[in-house]
Amino acid sequence: MAEEPGGAGQGADGLAQAWNALVATARRTVADGLVVGTSGNVSVRIRDTVLVTPSGVPYDELTPDDLVAVGLDGEQSAGTLTPTSELPMHLAVYRATPARAVVHTHAVHATAVSTLVPELPLIHYMAAALGGPVRVAPYATYGTERLAENVLDALKGRTGCLLQNHGTLTYGDTLAAAYDRTAQLEWLCRVWLTASAHPHHTPKLLTRDQVREVEEKLRGYGQQG
Ligand code: 13P
Ligand code: ZN
Repeated sequence: MAEEPGGAGQGADGLAQAWNALVATARRTVADGLVVGTSGNVSVRIRDTVLVTPSGVPYDELTPDDLVAVGLDGEQSAGTLTPTSELPMHLAVYRATPARAVVHTHAVHATAVSTLVPELPLIHYMAAALGGPVRVAPYATYGTERLAENVLDALKGRTGCLLQNHGTLTYGDTLAAAYDRTAQLEWLCRVWLTASAHPHHTPKLLTRDQVREVEEKLRGYGQQG
């Protein structure tokens, strides 16, 4: 499985590097306007250890000493701050998928779409970056096992989903990949909202086959080797 650039491997140094990368990603969600205040949370898995953002702490206040680590069973193995309230959701994703990093946000356009439809219509081929049409996980109270279950259902065959009346969740092999999927998902939702707001026209949509073709093509996208 791919590791973060900078090599967050094993041992204390690896965990410290991974924590720095996690904090940088969490700060980016705020800087890029995907969350406000302490909303959202980020995690990264190194072997069977998961580093998570602490609950309700502004990301710009986090220092290297604030590292919070838990096992896949949720037992805290490092740090004194309380882990994110969405720990059940993050751990469920790690147990059920190949995820190495998970990003949860309350991005505006994505959250708006989560209140309107059960699935994001195929407005653009970049839906392929998330594995196809992105589903909306039915609403459940934040931080609950029920929400975690709903998210797992919505993630089947996808690397991201919307959380009804709440926000987004995406995962990837690295923090960068998980973050990029969140940014792409927010952009897709913005495009759909923009197109569907036209008073006289309804957006044309792509077929599942057209997006599947792009899923294949994206595997060879960019600079190879
Ligand atoms: P935490 O501050 O506990 O991570 O909660 C933020 C959030 O987005 C809950 O859904
Ligand atoms: Zn949330």
